[in-house]
Amino acid sequence: MGIEEKLPSGVLLTTVEGVAGYFRKASFWPATFGLACCAIEMMTSGGPKYDLARFGMEVFRASPRQADLMIVAGRVSQKMAPVLRQIYDQMAEPKWVLAMGVCASSGGMFNNYAIVQGVDHVVPVDMYLPGCPPRPEMLIDAILKLHDQVQEGKLGVNRLAQIEERENAALAA
Ligand code: SF4
Repeated sequence: MGIEEKLPSGVLLTTVEGVAGYFRKASFWPATFGLACCAIEMMTSGGPKYDLARFGMEVFRASPRQADLMIVAGRVSQKMAPVLRQIYDQMAEPKWVLAMGVCASSGGMFNNYAIVQGVDHVVPVDMYLPGCPPRPEMLIDAILKLHDQVQEGKLGVNRLAQIEERENAALAA
């Protein structure tokens, strides 16, 4: 007989990592940070129609020190890049970054000297979301996929190593 079968009803077994992942994903607070047209869709996601609050995320924080998630919503100009990096550095660990739209992910149609060709040149990115602009449903879907990553994340393992591991697995697939 397994130990689970000996437990009284109402008692659950889990791991510290499982509990930490659960509470982290259920209390994501995004930084208030919009760069271009994608930000309009991001703001719509927080409104009553799409109701991001369903996932514990209604509080967009004005202070990076209170934010867990940076949604890079729009193209990143070369002049904005150091500001973006400073905001990222001011966010406390653990923290995550979502590149929203083709411009943030790869520069998109702005293949020129003024625009950073992908925000991963400036900060490590956990989730890329294609589209121009991605609709609020797409953003919420990407956030929920990021929730899954957070739930499965290992405590004490460097986040950059986890990003690299996921990228290698995706390349090998
Ligand atoms: Fe604007 Fe499209 Fe670029 Fe988003 S992906 S910032 S909507 S041009």
